[in-house]
Amino acid sequence: MIFYPQGYFSRISDINSEYIKQNNIKGFILDVDNTLIDYYKNMNEETIHWVEEMKKNGIKMCILSNSNKHKKVKEVAQKLDMEYSYFAMKPLRNGFKKAQRMLGLESSEIAVVGDQIFTDVIGANRMKMHSILVDPIEEKDIFVTLIKRPIENYIKKRFIKQKNKSEDNNNYCKRKSLDYLKKDVDSNSSKITTNEPSKKHSTKEERDVL
Ligand SMILES: [Mg+2]
Repeated sequence: MIFYPQGYFSRISDINSEYIKQNNIKGFILDVDNTLIDYYKNMNEETIHWVEEMKKNGIKMCILSNSNKHKKVKEVAQKLDMEYSYFAMKPLRNGFKKAQRMLGLESSEIAVVGDQIFTDVIGANRMKMHSILVDPIEEKDIFVTLIKRPIENYIKKRFIKQKNKSEDNNNYCKRKSLDYLKKDVDSNSSKITTNEPSKKHSTKEERDVL
């Protein structure tokens, strides 16, 4: 489903190295507004630390922002020392292609991190990149985003519910297969103990063969 992210984290700094290895992620395309900085252009220390750690581990990164405020995007990119592209018009493909060239990686090796389903997640999914949704840092946002938030929150809730459900299902299947095995063993043991001929072999010839 194009609306659904493949991963969901509360904050960007929660994306851990285990998850990165599991999903064979070699590079990140990062959103700016409400993913790296809040409404007041503040970036927290955890985010800076996370970017440094990723770089140390050889993970490539670049910025892809829909913002048309060049100065703002450039400042963020300079602070984190990475290439950038602004006014990207996500979810359209062109911006993502440009970012992919910056990283020099295959689509399947790239994860896109952003706080919006309609731009970041859909864009990543269309490009066959790994999509990661994060909670917005600061809810105070432009009008359009405020309209989209309730729909995004609904999808997030469903995502979490589905994840829990599939875990429950796995446990249910395990329980069921155990029950089945148990029944199978019980029925086999009853077959061994009985002396009566089976009803399936009711003719004299069949009984003689037995
Ligand atoms: Mg954003």
